[in-house]
Amino acid sequence: MRLLVVEDNVPLADELIQGLQRQGYAVDWLADGRDAAYQGSSEPYDLIVLDLGLPGLPGLEVLAQWRAAGLATPVLILTARGSWAERIEGLKAGADDYLSKPFHPEELQLRIQSLLRRARGLANQPTLEAAGLHLDEGRQCVSRDGQDVQLTAAEFRLLRYFMLHPQQILSKSHLAEHLYNGETERDSNVLEVHVNHLRRKLGRSVIETHRGQGYRFGGVVE
Ligand code: CA
Repeated sequence: MRLLVVEDNVPLADELIQGLQRQGYAVDWLADGRDAAYQGSSEPYDLIVLDLGLPGLPGLEVLAQWRAAGLATPVLILTARGSWAERIEGLKAGADDYLSKPFHPEELQLRIQSLLRRARGLANQPTLEAAGLHLDEGRQCVSRDGQDVQLTAAEFRLLRYFMLHPQQILSKSHLAEHLYNGETERDSNVLEVHVNHLRRKLGRSVIETHRGQGYRFGGVVE
C-alpha cells in the first residue's frame, strides 16, 4: 500500500515515515500544503496522513480541495492536542479519522490498518482475512489452518495488497504503483519473483496469472 504523509515538522515526519516503512508501506512525504493539494490528487495513494497546520496551504483547505475534486482516498488528520474544534472541522471537511498529537505509533498503525480495510469494504474484519489465509500485520506473517507461514518484507507487502483486493485482476503496473513509492525502481521482473515465492509458500492456485492482464488473488473469500 502506498501512503502520503503531509507533515511540516521534520523530526515527526521522519519518525512517521520510518515507522510506516517498517510496517511495509511505501511512503511519500510532503511538507507544503500546496504541493500536497496537487500531488495528493494526482498520485494513486491508498491513504493519506495529513497534518492541519501546514505552510503554503492549511491542511483543512487541502482536504476540502481534494474532496471537492472527488478524491475518495481515506484521510487521517493529525490535530493539536485537545483541539476539539480542529477535529470537528477536519471531520466536516471529509477526514475519515483523526489522531491528536502526541500519539502512540501503535495507535496510528492500527487506525491505518482499519481505515484501509474499511476502504475495501472489509470493515467487519478485525484482522485481514481472505482465501482461507489470515494475515497478521503486526508480526508480518500469514497463517493458514493455524499454521504460520513466514514471509519476507517484500512478500508481506505484496500479499497484503492482494488480500485487500481479492478476486480482482491487478496489472503489474498497478501493483508496482501501489507497492513502491516514486523513487523506487519499479521492475516487473521483481514482482514476478515475489509472486512465485508466494505461490511456493501458499500453493500455486492462490494467485492466478491472466495472460496480458495481470494477477488475480483468488479462492473463496470468507
Ligand atoms: Ca504542522
